[in-house]
Amino acid sequence: MTDGSTDKDPIGDARRLAMINRHNYLAHTIREMEYIIHCASAARPSYHITTKMTETRNCSSVVFFYNRGCTIFLPCERIDMKDEDIRLITAHELGHISYDIDNLESKTGLNVSPSDDEEYYAWAFAHSLLDAKSDGYKDGVGKDEYIYHFDDLDKLLMSNVKRQQPDHKELHDRVRKFLLDRKRQPKETPK
Ligand SMILES: [Zn+2]
Repeated sequence: MTDGSTDKDPIGDARRLAMINRHNYLAHTIREMEYIIHCASAARPSYHITTKMTETRNCSSVVFFYNRGCTIFLPCERIDMKDEDIRLITAHELGHISYDIDNLESKTGLNVSPSDDEEYYAWAFAHSLLDAKSDGYKDGVGKDEYIYHFDDLDKLLMSNVKRQQPDHKELHDRVRKFLLDRKRQPKETPK
């Protein structure tokens, strides 16, 4: 067109991108993990971690590993899944990826039956990640709603462990002990 006008819509296009959807929670952490995997393996020039919201009524989440990346499936459509639950569950699934971070090339398919040690690691990782990020937010980076006070985060973690694995009493006890031990340890200042 001679007057320089265009059919393109920069405002609409930018606004769509500015919206934060649930599947983008912990995006900075995910980018960091991709970067660590990228640096650790010359044979894996790019590894992508994507998150997908599912319409399942089921409350469980799972990671599907494939050759050059993995997809985290999140149970976002359940009415009782609040934003904070989805964020915690995302952190838990990132824990499963972290558990095997040196061994990702041998992992393919759905991560459906992790060992008890892996399951415990993933919950402890989720708690520690959100706790460290909460401390960072207190220092003025990020959003108030992600700051956890007193034992809010502990309660959030326990309720999600029980909801996802209601019959796994041994796991409940292990996570409870983890939370007690965390309370006794002096906190490191996040970098
Ligand atoms: Zn798990």
